[in-house]
Amino acid sequence: MDRKWTGAALGGLLLSMTLSAHAAGTNYDKDASRLLASGKFKTATAQIDKDYERIVGDIVTLTEIEAPPFKEEQRARVYQRMLQEHGLSDVEMDEVGNVMGLRKGTGSGPLVVIAAHLDTVFPAGTDVKVRREGHTLHAPGIGDDTSSLPVLLAFVRAMDAAGFKTRSDILFVGNVGEEGPGDLRGTRYLFNKSKYKDRIGYFISFEPGHAGRITNGGVGSKRYKVTFTGPGGHSFGAFGLVSPAFALGQAIEEFGKIQVPKTPKTTYNVGLIEGGTSVNSIPFAMSMTVDMRSAGKAELDALEQQFLAILPKAVAAENAARSTAKGEVAYKLEAVGDRPVGHTDLDKSISRIASAVSRAGGIEPQFGSSSTDSNVPMSLGIEALTLGGGFESSRAHSLDEYVQLDKPQDVHSMSLGLATVLMLAGVK
Ligand SMILES: [Zn+2]
Repeated sequence: MDRKWTGAALGGLLLSMTLSAHAAGTNYDKDASRLLASGKFKTATAQIDKDYERIVGDIVTLTEIEAPPFKEEQRARVYQRMLQEHGLSDVEMDEVGNVMGLRKGTGSGPLVVIAAHLDTVFPAGTDVKVRREGHTLHAPGIGDDTSSLPVLLAFVRAMDAAGFKTRSDILFVGNVGEEGPGDLRGTRYLFNKSKYKDRIGYFISFEPGHAGRITNGGVGSKRYKVTFTGPGGHSFGAFGLVSPAFALGQAIEEFGKIQVPKTPKTTYNVGLIEGGTSVNSIPFAMSMTVDMRSAGKAELDALEQQFLAILPKAVAAENAARSTAKGEVAYKLEAVGDRPVGHTDLDKSISRIASAVSRAGGIEPQFGSSSTDSNVPMSLGIEALTLGGGFESSRAHSLDEYVQLDKPQDVHSMSLGLATVLMLAGVK
């Protein structure tokens, strides 16, 4: 996860306008207030409160099982057992390694899927032992997104304790592949190939953070590794031959001149440059790995096209500038990431419900854009949001990552997450 918050109060304003404009059928604000004031909901919240140390304990247990991209299985197996112990049905691990279990509803509402991702960015061998200092828990990966996995389990216990029945089935998922190299493979599978793919009406991904943070924009990205190759040679003896280094330099210079819109925010970066043999050799290979992002699909596509057009020109310019007697400079393109752009409008039920619950809980909703598991359903037109799961974390993706425990606020946030799930699944 990496996210950015924008349009704090504006979101709420737009939403109230939308509500008054076509509030004909449903008044989510009233429903949310009624739900939060109900005895059952208070029982559910009391259960979360009572469970707090258990939730923290589960965060520690799961954090200490490393889960690098593509190596989530050990953590997944433990989480699968936890899902099983919570009495969910159809508990399984799918083909790509997602683990899930169903809490059956009473009727025929659309399937509600709630998920937290199993993977962290840290490579195998990273020290993931948790250090607790007062109200702070330190360990790589502890916030993003390990802190959200036990929250889903706490929801099950709270619903059971309060005797909540829902119209919809709710699928609880610990998914693989959210972070960088995973390229959203877990949710991609869920929405394109799994047995649930045609039933999913609503999707919520829980990531670190308190309630009120609503990610309704999915920033898309395209990532490429470009390798320029050439004949190579001695820097002195073969001077005058074409060089992949100059082609690479030219491509980077042109890439850096591209003008991108501020809105929707569109960006590019050269993150890695590799290659060469020695200081006295004309290199035979040089590569760069680039990242392009946008919250707008058309803008991302346009940027990608401009980038791709630069490459043959840079190669042609180098082949024209120096001798090709021993061979030409060429390039090879490798796609290393492709995250779809998506968006869930503020007038969709899921956005209105999440906002109404947040306001009923005394928190003004803040809308933002980010790149998360929700990108996949958003890009398919399925109502999806990423919400703060309850625990505030800092220094995500660094070895200094930590979670700051604040019991009253964490419990309140979790209870609002639960209320959103309950309303989506058809409980009033
Ligand atoms: Zn994350």
